[in-house]
Amino acid sequence: KKTLRLVLGDQLNQKHSWFQEKSDQVIYFMAEMQQETNYVKHHIQKVVAFFLSMRNFSKDLQQQGHQFIYYNLDDSKNTGDLKKNIQQIIEQENIEKFEYQLPDEYRLDHQLKELSNEISISSKAYDTEHFYTQRQDVTQFFEGKKEMVMEYFYRDMRKKHQLLMTADKQPLGGKWNYDKSNRKKWTGKPEIPPIKSFSKNVTEIVELLEKEKISTIGRINEEDFTWPTSRKECLEVLAYFCTTLLVHFGDYEDAMHTDKKFLFHSRLSFAMNSKMLSPKEVNEAVINHYQNHQEEIDISQVEGFVRQVLGWREYMRGIYWKQMPEYAKLNKLNNTNPLPEFFWTGETKMNCLKHSINQSLDHAYAHHIQRLMVIGNFALLNMVNPNEVDQWYLGIYIDAIEWAEITNTRGMSQFADGGIVATKPYVSSGSYINKMSNYCKSCKYSVSKKTGEDACPFNSLYWNFINEKKEHFLNNQRMSMMLAMLKKMNQETLNQHIERSKEIIKSPNKF
Ligand code: FAD
Ligand code: SF4
Repeated sequence: KKTLRLVLGDQLNQKHSWFQEKSDQVIYFMAEMQQETNYVKHHIQKVVAFFLSMRNFSKDLQQQGHQFIYYNLDDSKNTGDLKKNIQQIIEQENIEKFEYQLPDEYRLDHQLKELSNEISISSKAYDTEHFYTQRQDVTQFFEGKKEMVMEYFYRDMRKKHQLLMTADKQPLGGKWNYDKSNRKKWTGKPEIPPIKSFSKNVTEIVELLEKEKISTIGRINEEDFTWPTSRKECLEVLAYFCTTLLVHFGDYEDAMHTDKKFLFHSRLSFAMNSKMLSPKEVNEAVINHYQNHQEEIDISQVEGFVRQVLGWREYMRGIYWKQMPEYAKLNKLNNTNPLPEFFWTGETKMNCLKHSINQSLDHAYAHHIQRLMVIGNFALLNMVNPNEVDQWYLGIYIDAIEWAEITNTRGMSQFADGGIVATKPYVSSGSYINKMSNYCKSCKYSVSKKTGEDACPFNSLYWNFINEKKEHFLNNQRMSMMLAMLKKMNQETLNQHIERSKEIIKSPNKF
């Protein structure tokens, strides 16, 4: 039977069992589509990275002898719509069977189910063979439990997959979690190696996007595109991480600095989310390297990394499939303010936000703590509508695909799920940002001042938020200390915080 197999832009897994055999009867299909460039306004580097990676993937597989139909964005046959493209090819090529890999997004899952019902030929869905877990594993793991604590899931995964475990089933090094040693501030040392860059010229694709009027956000240096866009390049980034960055990864995981955008982070999220690399091979490479260099690398650096990839990444995906589609509508704190304009321009006097947002606009990247404790923190303290926050995060980051984005943004960062992902809202005053970065040193505002014109805006916003949302946290143990401090606060000071917060929330772009 002549079979059409669809490969989506984030399914670039060359190791998939589909590609282990060649057949004249199988045609693979990929397309650069307007439906994908336009469901949200993406960062220009994200669109370029996906299109280039898709092209490289199809080239690699054609060289291996597989048959491919690939539509460029401006191909005359390309309708820009997934269903129409597929229906057209089924007719033209006399296809008798349609096959696809299960998408990771609810939107595409729904669309492909619909399509399978509409077409007259038979269809079949396959696993992507990418994740450690199946869609419903996290749901099953937490069945009957009141809280879905990531740590328990993570420990179970460590045992199940025998990662960083001793022969007698104990966690290597004696502890499951070295989170507490992952909180150093970076103050100039140890030296941070440059990023592994590929300095590609991407003018041709940028021109194609302009010609086709694809509307994007962010900035790009067309002559020096740094992201890996082939399996070979992704493997180089992974090797570079192991040999150069891993040694300090855990220590400075939460650190931020005005001159250092990537610190010791791996920059592997795009490689994994596009499936050019699998989380298994990433963890294995990291652990292998550690095992051969135990005198130089501490277990805490490696465990910190494995926890993110084996724990958080799989957990977030599981929560996504457990909670969607309702999750996308949750707004448990009833936040309704608009997203400040400076999120799109980076023009603000608040130094932490200026750096974190400009970096996002320049590189389609910010690391976890910038996303959570600077940008997300400010959005939540401003009580911004989570729909608007989601749209921003879904567009701007190179790795933003809904399953990873929405659970992190709406859940972990905005607490709009009421505590499914996080046990308390990730909000803080300026002091946390000062503790983990040098941003405050060169800021117009004073982090140590609590009130007054030049006081750090986060300081008033923080107490205003706790005060305004206190009803939501009455039964939350982890918030009880904050609520007690609020209760004890002098009424005049609280009023000053409330007054200043009103000004900030009304005109955030002035600050
Ligand atoms: P590293 O710091 O080197 O970490 C290694 C890997 O661990 C990452 O590549 C990633 O695959 C994984 N990882 C770490 N934390 C998480 C997490 N919380 N959830 C899932 N995977 C994780 N990650 C995305 O992949 N896509 C998103 O759209 C996304 N949106 C986010 C939004 C917010 C508000 C926050 C707080 C976090 C978000 N993250 C997202 C998680 C995390 O910030 C990024 O995965 C990370 O910054 C990517 O950079 P890196 O590869 O250098 O990561
Ligand atoms: Fe950010 Fe406040 Fe520090 Fe300025 S003082 S950098 S606004 S935390």
